[in-house]
Amino acid sequence: MKYSEVFSSDFIEKLNQIKTQESPGVKADNELECEYIDVENIVKMLGFQVERIENLGASGQLDCKVIKLNKDDVPYRQRFSIAHELGHAMQGQSKANRLGGRASDYSIDEQKDEVFANKFAARLLMPLKLVSKNINNIIASNKMDSNKLSRENVDYIMSELSSKLQVSLQSVEFRVRNLNIFVESEEE
Ligand SMILES: [Zn+2]
Repeated sequence: MKYSEVFSSDFIEKLNQIKTQESPGVKADNELECEYIDVENIVKMLGFQVERIENLGASGQLDCKVIKLNKDDVPYRQRFSIAHELGHAMQGQSKANRLGGRASDYSIDEQKDEVFANKFAARLLMPLKLVSKNINNIIASNKMDSNKLSRENVDYIMSELSSKLQVSLQSVEFRVRNLNIFVESEEE
């Protein structure tokens, strides 16, 4: 699977706008390392370093070209934190601190930045093409009727999707809802 098969050329171009001079950047023709988004590899191709630190006091921190992670966080959360901190870098920020989920921890401006970083992280880790492809595969391999999905079917698809894409169930459900994937269409 190539980057061009999961990301639009616009998105790849935007990513490469923040790459360091010495780094190769993300090449549309390059193969992903795995069947999900290899987010750590992507940030490295852009010239960022990832450091895992004990007792960081936050899930993630951006310090210029270094993304610091809380070593004790589960892999899904670390992956989301990498993508989230990259989102701050995309906004031209060089310092950011990812605290808990409480809005009261942030000022209004910071809250806006947090929303942007979370949306960016969702787009990066769960691109539409990859989400649709996986949902179609799960439906087909479980012989589900895509025209008549039950609540149980959808729950099952979500949990499978979460493990295929290596993101939390909560993130997957939020993303799929935003993409309107299970909303009935008028077309036949
Ligand atoms: Zn943040």
